[in-house]
Amino acid sequence: MRYSGLKVLAEGLRGNRGWTQAWREPEPRKEYDIVLIGGGGHGLSTAYYLARNHGLRNIAVLEKGWIGGGNVGRNTTIVRSNYFLPGNQEFYGLSLRLWEGLEADLNYNVMFSQRGLLNLFHSDGQRDAFARRGNAMVNAGDDGVLLDREGVRRLVPYLDFDNARFPIHGGLLHARGGTARHDAVAWGYARGADSRGVDIVQNCEVTGIRVENGAVRGVETTRGAIAARKVGIVVAGRSSQVAAMAGLRLPIESHVLQAFVTEGLKPVINHVIAFGMGHFYISQSDKGGLVFGGDLDFHASYAQRGNLPMAEHVMEAGMTLMPMIGRARVLRSWGGIMDMSPDGSPIIDRTPIDGLYLNAGWCYGGFKAVPASGWCFAHLLATDQPHEAAARYRLDRFREGRLIDEEGTGSQHNLH
Ligand SMILES: Cc1cc2nc3c(=O)[nH]c(=O)nc-3n(C[C@H](O)[C@H](O)[C@H](O)COP(=O)(O)OP(=O)(O)OC[C@H]3O[C@@H](n4cnc5c(N)ncnc54)[C@H](O)[C@@H]3O)c2cc1C
Repeated sequence: MRYSGLKVLAEGLRGNRGWTQAWREPEPRKEYDIVLIGGGGHGLSTAYYLARNHGLRNIAVLEKGWIGGGNVGRNTTIVRSNYFLPGNQEFYGLSLRLWEGLEADLNYNVMFSQRGLLNLFHSDGQRDAFARRGNAMVNAGDDGVLLDREGVRRLVPYLDFDNARFPIHGGLLHARGGTARHDAVAWGYARGADSRGVDIVQNCEVTGIRVENGAVRGVETTRGAIAARKVGIVVAGRSSQVAAMAGLRLPIESHVLQAFVTEGLKPVINHVIAFGMGHFYISQSDKGGLVFGGDLDFHASYAQRGNLPMAEHVMEAGMTLMPMIGRARVLRSWGGIMDMSPDGSPIIDRTPIDGLYLNAGWCYGGFKAVPASGWCFAHLLATDQPHEAAARYRLDRFREGRLIDEEGTGSQHNLH
């Protein structure tokens, strides 16, 4: 079924009786060409592009819970392409271009809003680093404008520019950055993949990966064994656990990141604002809630909820940046499990096991990557060749010392 304004109008007049299910609830078959473990943003977009770009249909996405229950539905929805290093630049540039055409492509409203991302700086050194980054972004075909203090004040006058610890000196504005409705992204890709014949199987946990003579043969699940020629691991925070089912030890640590939402307010924050010194970032959802977050909880965990000290830290950072936020009431908070790679960049690669592929290491920035990740992982699965935009996201780079250390935090990204 194609969605359109006319369709909404017609259904409204007919009592909304004509809508059909957005995707089927199929029973898993005994065998598929490709099985994707994990029905998050990356698993679903991979399935969609396998069908759309490569004409492959005999595919299953196996999700242990429900579509959108993982990080894809837990993130703070920031979309950006403001990277400095080759490797990341071409990948996130591709992703942002795909975002810009996504709603038309999926025929689904993912509420993509290019409201602009503003990264604040608070010292001369930080200004120079942002100027350099902005130039690199522009040279890579993305956008970036360096604003001085008055330029920032014109955009966001409500910030505390003279707070004693981190006075605001200016900011880097990435106008094409913004937000999208996170669940809608999962639903849109699920619907698109399903309509092209992909089986999306919810409540189906993978409990084992069958490997014989160095090649993958399929998976064991809570709904029986499923044979497959190729298997893709796309489980974000559970990457290490699932890879261990095939005897692999990954360079990934899982950490919790929290998000917070206030009660609905009238429009007040028009941009996404990132306050790097205080580890705080904020935007306002279309429903009016202020959506914000901060740093990782500082210990490895598989719990999908965060601890109170980090909640306090995030609130303090928010108050430092915009004291008016103290009058808003926090309505909800939650946590998601982040798959932290040592250099902060992802992995899209084959594994040493024939037919077993890995998509992981998204850290706290994998939502914006959903389109390009699916595009490139589908290319790898279908052709056995890395896509040129993801060619540097190799698993062996940690052994070879070819890190893509975007933030310059060294080989312990999770501890920065
Ligand atoms: C609080 C928070 C804020 C964030 N903010 C941003 C942001 O602003 N911008 C941004 O770009 N990124 C952000 N991120 C990161 C982003 O959400 C993730 O990097 C990204 O969603 C991870 O990929 P995914 O969507 O495929 O993961 P998920 O949605 O977690 O998908 C993985 C799926 O695998 C399933 N699974 C696990 N084990 C198994 C198994 N054994 N069998 C079957 N299925 C299994 C899980 O149930 C899950 O549904 C944030 C994350 C959090 C938690």
